Amino acid sequence: MICPKRTSELLDLHLAPFKDKDPAWEIGVSRIAGRGVVATRSLKRGEIIFRDSPLLIGLAAHEEDALNACSVCLKMLPDTRFMCRQGCGLPVCSLCAKKKQHKGDCDLFKSWGPNEPDVANSVIIRLLCVARAINLSKEQRDLIYCLQANLDNNHRTEVRNAAKCFKNFPTDKKLIEIMNRTVAVLRTNGFDKTTDRTNDNQEFNYRALYPLFGVVNHDCIPNAYYTFEEKTNNMIVRAAVDIPEGFEVTTTYTKLFTGNIARHLFLKMKKGFTCKCPRCSDPTEKGAFISGLYCRDTNCTGLVVPEISGLPHPNWNCLECKQKSTHAQMMKSQDFASGAINAKANSNSLRTLVQYLNEKSDSFIPNSNYVVVDAKMSVLQRLQQGREDCSEELANNTRLRYSRDITQVMDKLGLGDSLLRTHLEEQLRREEERRAKRLADEAEKQRKLAELQAKAAEADQLLAVLEKEQADQAAASAGTADPGTAPAPPPAAAELA
Ligand SMILES: [Zn+2]
Ligand SMILES: [Zn+2]
Ligand SMILES: [Zn+2]
Ligand SMILES: [Zn+2]
Repeated sequence: MICPKRTSELLDLHLAPFKDKDPAWEIGVSRIAGRGVVATRSLKRGEIIFRDSPLLIGLAAHEEDALNACSVCLKMLPDTRFMCRQGCGLPVCSLCAKKKQHKGDCDLFKSWGPNEPDVANSVIIRLLCVARAINLSKEQRDLIYCLQANLDNNHRTEVRNAAKCFKNFPTDKKLIEIMNRTVAVLRTNGFDKTTDRTNDNQEFNYRALYPLFGVVNHDCIPNAYYTFEEKTNNMIVRAAVDIPEGFEVTTTYTKLFTGNIARHLFLKMKKGFTCKCPRCSDPTEKGAFISGLYCRDTNCTGLVVPEISGLPHPNWNCLECKQKSTHAQMMKSQDFASGAINAKANSNSLRTLVQYLNEKSDSFIPNSNYVVVDAKMSVLQRLQQGREDCSEELANNTRLRYSRDITQVMDKLGLGDSLLRTHLEEQLRREEERRAKRLADEAEKQRKLAELQAKAAEADQLLAVLEKEQADQAAASAGTADPGTAPAPPPAAAELA
């Protein structure tokens, strides 16, 4: 472990452009692993903890057909003639082609001699984020070396493959080592479309390293969340819940709605550690039962959950009848359910998927299971893009129901604020407003109807009185054969007056 003091010094240099005078954090010894970011005063939910800027950022260039983005400003370009005319093999817009940043990138890549400089090559474009480490200052590079790196067997593959795309790729061991190390640090601490770090339902299309955020340790129930400023790509980290002074700030490296076993496997393989957070130590995952399956005994209504053993294939226990099952046995149920739900999800009919989730799936898989939660998330996403074959009413009801279901899962897990929660609560609020408006409209309609009915009744009454008056008058005039007797005013008319 690199000492927290040196990390702090290097981070101070990196953050100098916008470091708070009175930061709410410090680098300290972590209870989770090595060193971490610790709150130096109590933080309220929603409060900004820190800002960070990317030390390295570049295009992720994962899809071969979407390589027409500028390597400097990262904006999409018209898909003709977007490659640098200097022959560096990088896409660049006409404005950025004149900037200092591109001059540095351009000189470096030209000196390596790309094989086909006019053809956008994802391997070359993807390497840029890594190669930029070469032109950083000594302190900036030291900062990269300060961060955790999972130096597994695969981390050298990227640079090795990229070398084949250039005529004069450097053979200098020191340069290669810097790049390999940067790849490993990016894979462990960086953002990339392929990693699950961007789990908060937000797309981040670049490859980037935020050094201070890189020091933030993992917890499966994080107490902080982040957003990006669109213009600068700077990151803002906020408290997801109230954080007491002296508590460590945490984020999550995994998706929120995966079960204990899958998270463990991911963290072990990709990040090289075993998480021991409270969620990971609880077979029920705080009562959210994300991995929960039905008991194999059809007479038992209990849920079966995997034991906490740290093994990739643990035994499972029924919480009701205590029956033990092997991992293979439970995986059969899980695979069956996942297959059935995914088949509906892949069909073109959104209505079919919604009906299946509402009426069928809980006969063979609990609603708390991650495959159901995932399917509901995908329904909400699809509804955001359009109703497809759902009626307006079905779409509205589904939005309300699934947003509520997922926020309930988040509540059970004890998850605080996040972009996902904000989004779901917004959906709920809008749906509830729509309902309230519909109820108010209905009440108004009823009120108007009642008013009309009252008026009609009044008119009927009036008519009856008039008719009676006429009849009385007729009767009176028939009786005036007796002169001198003035007709008495009709009593009803007097009442009316
Ligand atoms: Zn540009
Ligand atoms: Zn160039
Ligand atoms: Zn955990
Ligand atoms: Zn049972």
